[in-house]
Amino acid sequence: MIPKFEARSYALTPFIDARNYIGGQWVDASGDEVLPIINPRHGQPMANVRMSTAADVDAAVKAATAAATDWKEWPLRERAHVMYRAREFMLRDIDELSWLVSHENGKIFSEAKAEIDKGIECVEFGCSLPNLAAGTQLEVSRGVRCEVVHAPLGVVAGIVPFNFPFMVPLWMLPQALVGGNAFLLKPSEQVPLSSLELVRIFEEAGLPKGVLSLVQGGRETVEALCDHPGIEAVAFVGSTRVAKLVYGRAAASGKRALCLGGAKNHLIVVPDADPELTADNVVASYTGCAGQRCMAASVMVAVGDVQHIIDAIAKRTAAMKLGDDMGPITTSASVERITAYIDQAEQLGAKVLVDGRRAKPLGAEGGHWVGPTLLDHVTEKMPAAHDEIFGPVLSIVRVDTVEQAIALENRSPYGNASSVYTTSGEVARRVMNEVEAGMCGVNIGVPVPREPFGFGGWNDSLFGHGNITGWDGFLFWTRQRKVTSKWSLQKDATWMS
Ligand code: NAD
Repeated sequence: MIPKFEARSYALTPFIDARNYIGGQWVDASGDEVLPIINPRHGQPMANVRMSTAADVDAAVKAATAAATDWKEWPLRERAHVMYRAREFMLRDIDELSWLVSHENGKIFSEAKAEIDKGIECVEFGCSLPNLAAGTQLEVSRGVRCEVVHAPLGVVAGIVPFNFPFMVPLWMLPQALVGGNAFLLKPSEQVPLSSLELVRIFEEAGLPKGVLSLVQGGRETVEALCDHPGIEAVAFVGSTRVAKLVYGRAAASGKRALCLGGAKNHLIVVPDADPELTADNVVASYTGCAGQRCMAASVMVAVGDVQHIIDAIAKRTAAMKLGDDMGPITTSASVERITAYIDQAEQLGAKVLVDGRRAKPLGAEGGHWVGPTLLDHVTEKMPAAHDEIFGPVLSIVRVDTVEQAIALENRSPYGNASSVYTTSGEVARRVMNEVEAGMCGVNIGVPVPREPFGFGGWNDSLFGHGNITGWDGFLFWTRQRKVTSKWSLQKDATWMS
């Protein structure tokens, strides 16, 4: 039984340890390693998590295999009814869920609530599947009928990152579960607590025991999931380095795999852009969730003279209140990485317009803090221009023309998101046609395609085929059975008779 998370403020609040959930039972993982779950605002532990071994994964697969046999017999419509109920419980508990996300990840309460809202939108897509997943049928010759049905794969797994502990699992669960699969979720070991609440809600919504399992852990657990012959498909969201490893390893054992990786998102700003809209939007994009979003702005490509817009961005950045407008960084290791990128860019000649190093909210005694940081005159040679920093740092690179801006962006191996700020339809159209990115925005800094549109990048930001959300997600978690049938002697003989 999961107790209520009682926090209704940022005050340090302990919670229960993260455990595995297998066959409808809460059980301890069997690994030797136990990690503290650190509240990043305080830099203090709020719970622990024990790592799972290959034996734990095997136990979860066995329980899931048994549960999948019955679950796939449920009509798709009834499976979707579980999503309807889960949606209601998520709305009922939204404050509790948001505070838990905020406490384990560090993002401010309003951002955590937005994360739950977006997760609910994904559940709503799951509710709509009975209206979308009817399949097709056609009389292909006299008396012969062909029909296509979407069949489940069996037992499938999802591996998720630290930055959206409640929402990213919901990129996967609605389509996979309504599609008739049993699902093994491997949360990030840095933020495993929200997954306990997800299980509590789906259990209350009537999901049969064993259909959703949790295996807490890290690398060893992920490798066991990739290797296990009883798992048919793996979806992954995280860094590009690990996405490539998981994609290769899962495919090597014959699994279907879709692995979303990291990002280095460019915002192209041209002189005719609306200054207010652009400055507001750029700051929101690079500082939201402390820059720990795969859709966050990371490079601003300043085309020609946009000094007035850069000044407005600097003014807004400097006015932000750390702790209230932007939360801490999730881990202390990330603080070191982010700070090192700023130091290095400065040493290589970038100008630090707003410096978040050593910034802390008033009265903060601990915690993992970096304030929003604006780097100007960054050049392509500097790692800050091409590495994923994954923190509240915007690198401004100056170019003369839109062509140069597009070429610079397209030299990045990543291809998650890209935006242009302009009042010219011609410029907008051109950039949208030519940039190498899967999710593009015009005057929008975080161009997330909302449901029912599918979420997914290009190039080194996604390995596999299709998007993870929307209809593509349903196709990923299901396979098509083609049935051709004839119920009487065919009078007009053809090659099919
Ligand atoms: P990560 O790659 O370090 O970890 C992701 C998952 O992989 C975790 O569950 C972790 O336990 C596991 N893992 C870590 N190292 C592993 C290894 N060596 N072998 C096997 N498994 C391993 O990513 P993160 O730090 O949790 O998340 C941040 C990254 O995720 C950023 O790069 C961000 O851009 C990316 N991200 C991408 C998207 C997207 O939609 N493309 C969305 C969210 C986050």
